[in-house]
Amino acid sequence: MKRVDVLGIKFNHITMDESVEAILSYMGGSEQKTITTANPEIVMMARKDQVFKQLINSGQLTVADGIGVVIGSRILGCPLPERVAGYDLFHNVFDRIKGTDYKVYFLGAAPGIAAKAARNMRLKFEGLQVVGVHDGYFELEDTQAIIDEINEKEVDLVLVGLGAPKQERWIEDYGKRLNAKVLIGVGGSFDGMSGTVKRAPDIFIKLGLEWFHRLITQPSRARRMLQLPLFILVVIGTRIRGVFGHGI
Ligand code: UDP
Repeated sequence: MKRVDVLGIKFNHITMDESVEAILSYMGGSEQKTITTANPEIVMMARKDQVFKQLINSGQLTVADGIGVVIGSRILGCPLPERVAGYDLFHNVFDRIKGTDYKVYFLGAAPGIAAKAARNMRLKFEGLQVVGVHDGYFELEDTQAIIDEINEKEVDLVLVGLGAPKQERWIEDYGKRLNAKVLIGVGGSFDGMSGTVKRAPDIFIKLGLEWFHRLITQPSRARRMLQLPLFILVVIGTRIRGVFGHGI
């Protein structure tokens, strides 16, 4: 599958529908696959952390979780087809696997949140099998018990919501001990699914302004969100260097 390099992260050139199909085929496959939904913040993090970058690039599917990445790819002259927001991607996958034998596990977020997210998703997608949950604030010595539970329950898809880069490191460190076919880092998605954090109204999403809604509703994220304009500036700089050679 074609990959598009955005500041070192190799994004799959893929639409939302194709991403859903890819995940479904991975779930039915024989090898374990890891998926990253990368936004500009993650791309910027990976520029400073080679190990993290390597972890993402060695996964099977990396999608553009954020309009910033799509805009960045256009500026760089290799446009990605569309935004594949993680939150929507998980919903679309749930919609396809509800009523099937596929089993899902939610790992992450503050105590009680993943359980609430699971309840909400089971209500929304009748027949969805979220067979287990665990919060994301466990001790290292609890890890084996979590792995055992996931394997005993024969989970196919594990959503890991520990925030980046912790969730990617967890997947790297323990993924091989899991029998699940698909592992995805989901950031703060359980907070959204549980209703703890409200998602932006549709109009913001359609206009590509979800980041703006986040900024005004969660001002504590403002410092982190400075990465967004910085990302665009670095992309522009990279493009200019690409056009005029490396002499600049
Ligand atoms: N989190 C966790 N364990 C930790 C640190 C964070 O479960 O040790 C959770 C946190 O409760 C939140 C998510 O990880 O649900 C990170 O959310 P954030 O919005 O920062 O992630 P993003 O979506 O921006 O990647």
